[in-house]
This record gives sequence, C-alpha cells and structure tokens, in this order.
Amino acid sequence: MSWQMCKAVNKGQETESNLAEKRTSLLTGNPLPMLIYDLETLGFQEVNESATRQYGYNCQEFLKLSLLDICLPEEIPAVLEVVRSPSASVDPEQIWTQVKKDGTHFQVTARANNITYEGRPSRFVVVEDITERRTLHDRLFRMAHHDSLTGLPNRVLLQERMAQAFATADAREHRAAIICMDLDKFKQINDWYGHGVGDECLKHVGTMLTRRLRGMDTVARTGGEEFTVVLGEVESVEAAGRVGSALLQSFGKPMDVDGHKVDLGVSMGIAVYPDHGTDMQELWRNADAAMYRAKRAGGHRFVLVAPDISTAAADSVALAEYMRSMLEERKFCLHYQLQYDLYGKIRGMEALLRLPDQHHGYVSPERFITLAEENGLIHPLGRWVIEETCRQLMQWNVPGREPLRIAVNVSPLQLMRLDFAAEVREILTQSGVNPEWLEMEITERVVLNFDIIAERMKEISAMGIRFAVDDFGTGYSSLQHLHRLPISTVKIDRSFVQRLCEPNSGSYPIVEAIISMGHSLNMQVIAEGVEDKEQMKALQRLGCDAMQGFFLSRPMVETEIEALLGIYSKVAVGY
Ligand code: C2E
Ligand code: MG
Ligand code: MG
Repeated sequence: MSWQMCKAVNKGQETESNLAEKRTSLLTGNPLPMLIYDLETLGFQEVNESATRQYGYNCQEFLKLSLLDICLPEEIPAVLEVVRSPSASVDPEQIWTQVKKDGTHFQVTARANNITYEGRPSRFVVVEDITERRTLHDRLFRMAHHDSLTGLPNRVLLQERMAQAFATADAREHRAAIICMDLDKFKQINDWYGHGVGDECLKHVGTMLTRRLRGMDTVARTGGEEFTVVLGEVESVEAAGRVGSALLQSFGKPMDVDGHKVDLGVSMGIAVYPDHGTDMQELWRNADAAMYRAKRAGGHRFVLVAPDISTAAADSVALAEYMRSMLEERKFCLHYQLQYDLYGKIRGMEALLRLPDQHHGYVSPERFITLAEENGLIHPLGRWVIEETCRQLMQWNVPGREPLRIAVNVSPLQLMRLDFAAEVREILTQSGVNPEWLEMEITERVVLNFDIIAERMKEISAMGIRFAVDDFGTGYSSLQHLHRLPISTVKIDRSFVQRLCEPNSGSYPIVEAIISMGHSLNMQVIAEGVEDKEQMKALQRLGCDAMQGFFLSRPMVETEIEALLGIYSKVAVGY
C-alpha cells in the first residue's frame, strides 16, 4: 500500500526511516480521510485508507487523480484560490462539496498544511465528512422550526420571519401585517369525524393558505387550530383587510376531506405594522385580541385592529351581531321598487333588502351588505331574500292576474358557492314559484370570478331564471365579455342616468352606446335611478326598454305595492 511505502523527506535531526514510520502510522490509523497532493501538478501523492473508502477509489486509481477530480466543478475556482494561497490556511468552517468515484456528492470541511513530500512542495489535507452532521442538523433545525403535522413554520420561525418582514417594511417604507386565525368549531369536527379527519383538515387549511398567499408571506401553525400569517409588503391597512376578506372567501366553500364535505369557518384578527404597533409582541397581541373579538361576534369574520378599538372595528362587530339577531328574529324586510317599460306598463320590480335600525330608520344596505359579505352572513341572508321573494310572488301571482316578475340582488359570493343552484332549486320547489317570475341581479364584479360563477349561472338559467347585470358601466366589463354569460338584461348605472341631460358630461353617448350594444346582443336594457321627466324622455328617445327610479316609483313596502297592484294596469306614468 502506498502510504506504507511513504518516505518522509523532512529536514531535521530525525532519521528518514523514523519519520516515515511516524507518518505511516499517522495516516493509516486515522479515521479521517487524509490526502497529500503536489502543489504544482495538483496530482495526489499519497492518500490513506480512510480516503479510499470515503471517495470509492482504490489506491492506484487515487494516485492517478488530481485534486480537481474530486471537486465539484462549480467550486473549482474557489479551490484554486486556496491552492494558490501560500499560507495553506483554509477556513475550517467552509463547506466543500466532494465528488465520489460513483459521481455522488458529500460535504466536507478541510484543514491543510504545506509540506515537502519526496522533495516536492506539497499540501497535506485532512477532510471531515459532515454530510451526516449536516443532515442531522437540518433535521433538528426543521423540527425546531416547523410543525410536524402540517410542515408549516412554527412560532419560532414565525418570529424570525416577522422580524424580517418588519425590517423590510422599514427599509422600503411600506407596511407588513399579522393575521391571527382560529378555526371555528374545530372541536366539533374532531368529535364528529374523528381526529384523523381533524388532522387532514389542518393540513388542508395549511396548503390552501400557502397557495392563496405570496412567496414573501409566511403561514405558520401556532397552536392546535390556530394559524398565523405574516404578510410582507402591504400597501395599506385596507389592503390587509382585502387579504383578510379573500381568505375568508376561501374558507366559505366546504372542504373535501377524506370523502367528507367539511364546512370550516375561521375567525381572524389583523394588525398592520407600523399602524397598529411597532413592537412585535404588542402587534401580535393586538391581532390576537382582534381575533377573539371576531370569535365573540359569532366567528367566520375578520376584525382589523382599529387605532381606537371602540370605534370602527367595534361598530362592525356590533352591527354584525345586530344583523345576526335580526336575521334570527326574521326582522329584515324587503321593499319593492317598480320598473316600467317604454309604454308605461309595469315590467316587474326589484326587491331591496332593508335592515330596520333602533331609531325607526334603516341601516344603509351598502354598509350592511358589505359587512355581510365579509363575515359570511351573506349566505343565510341571501337565502332569506330569495325565500321571502318567493313567498311574496306566490301571494301576488294568483291565477287570473298577469304574473309579476321580481328581481333579487345576488352577491357574487352566493354565486361562488357550489351548492347555490341546488339551494335555489330547493326554494323554488318548496314555494311552488315559476322560475320565470324570478330575475337575479348580479354586479359587474362577478366578471372577475368569471369561470367559477359561469357554471353556476348556467345551471340557474337552465331552470328558467333570468339574469340582469346591475350597475353596468361602473366596472371593467364589456358587454361582449358579459355575453358569454347567460344574461338577458343590462341595467345602466344610476350615475350615467343622473348626468344624462347635463351638457358635456359625456353620459349621453355612453348611455346611447350601452343601449344599442345591448340590443345588438339581444339584451333588454333598463335605466336605473331615473329622477326626473327630462331623463325619462331622453331615455325614451334612445329606445331604452325599461326604467326604474324615484321619479317613477320609490321602493315601497308590501302593503303599498298591494294597494297599487289593484290599479297597476291603469297607472299613467306621464309618458
Ligand atoms: P342596486 O341593486 O343598484 O339597487 C338600486 C338602489 O338605488 C337602491 O338603493 C334604490 O333605493 C336606489 N334607487 C332607486 N332609484 C333611485 C333614484 O332614482 N335615485 C337614487 N338616488 N337612488 C335610487 P338601496 O336600496 O340603498 O340599495 C343599495 C344597494 O344595496 C343595491 O343597489 C344593491 O346593490 C344592494 N342590495 C340591496 N338589497 C340587496 C340584497 O337583497 N342582496 C344584495 N346582495 N344586495 C342588495
Ligand atoms: Mg339591483
Ligand atoms: Mg343598481
């Protein structure tokens, strides 16, 4: 064996054979791979048994190789730099990747010394395989920083990411946000379906959140059914709220877990850095408190930390609680606004949802509908609107009277629910309403979720229910685009009608274009918000099919409509 034949040529008092013996025992007995290479040719002059075992070459093969043959090609420039440095000093912490005879890799740290070997300037290298140590270290690191069930970062790693996100926010002058999330009624899921399904739900939630968020955000599991999200680069408090709302929507649909359809709700508290605190713990605490507030308010909603907790957020929470109790007590009501056709005949009416307040007035639908969409209440509320409209239709559309059609407003969130069509069918069957008496108004916003809702709309229109696009002209859609959906009516937004007769407002040609384009696509066109005779006349001239507005009819309660219904065929509306 070559190391046994090795000859020392060191200067000194010791004899050559003495030194050779010492080196031989040093090399042979050592468990660490040792190599000697020629500093000029880089060819190996000597290797020990441990090195042959480690690298997979036998001794003869090894001595035909050069140092570069066992290095990773990408690392060769760095290796050459070390080789050329006269001091032979290698950073003991530096990790090098080495290549075995079979092409596989392993990682080492190295120590080296310059020596003279057989009269030539050489370098003596001891390497230590740290692959196993690294793997173990990586595993321990993962275990210490990740949750074993979901594989998501845990509290420890989350804190690091939070600190990074806040530092980046400072440096780039933007914001970051923390969202504390707690699954609603998770205990029930465990009780009903067993822990296996419970665990699968948690994994499902982890995957879903990770998919919904961006690479710069972190999703962590921070407790049993608790997740915390750190959003990097957030533009504003509102933007953080929008993320909350989007996440809430993702939870709105039942999850398919192990063959079970599981309905998971989530309560969220959102705190924005630096608006709601600059200290990590303080911010986290605030988000957590907001999350509990969301829970107390009934769950499945998000609460943004407000500078003054008792203001906006608390108002929303109080309003949400109020809505919930009013829905339970069936104290919401519908008002109906009549629509007239070109000839002054009633075309139908629109049902508008009303929430009575404690002072004999009404809460603005814009405010409570938005909140209901944020907290999931829109689903039971929307269902109630359809049921109540159907009840009303059955009462009014008695045999012998020309049937009336009622339009209900439907939120895009309702249409996104997989079971919405089935729900509508069930209500129709139970009430006995002819589907042709119903119209559904959807806003242009639905176009953003085109694919998801298209299918649902097709199912519903196949039943015979018509669709109208509400507030047309305020969104981003073109009529051609909407034409791919089963839409039979387009409602020109009030803002255009209001400026219709103002010179130079630009509204007139827009309304004209919507009407002619609508007609070319076989759609009926209705103008909303007609407030005076001048607007009505202009719309008539433009050939608008129908009109709705305070000038023609204010929204009315059931009894007012009933009083009118007896005479509706004789109503003159001033055409
Ligand atoms: P929308 O569907 O566009 O309803 C028309 C709104 O315009 C109603 O406001 C109505 O009162 C108002 N309006 C009608 N004619 C005139 C007019 O000549 N001038 C003016 N200035 N306003 C007029 P309302 O009842 O406050 O409803 C606001 C919005 O709330 C509705 O707009 C609709 O988007 C939503 N909404 C109402 N009920 C429901 C519902 O049951 N479900 C859903 N998802 N949304 C609803
Ligand atoms: Mg409407
Ligand atoms: Mg409208």
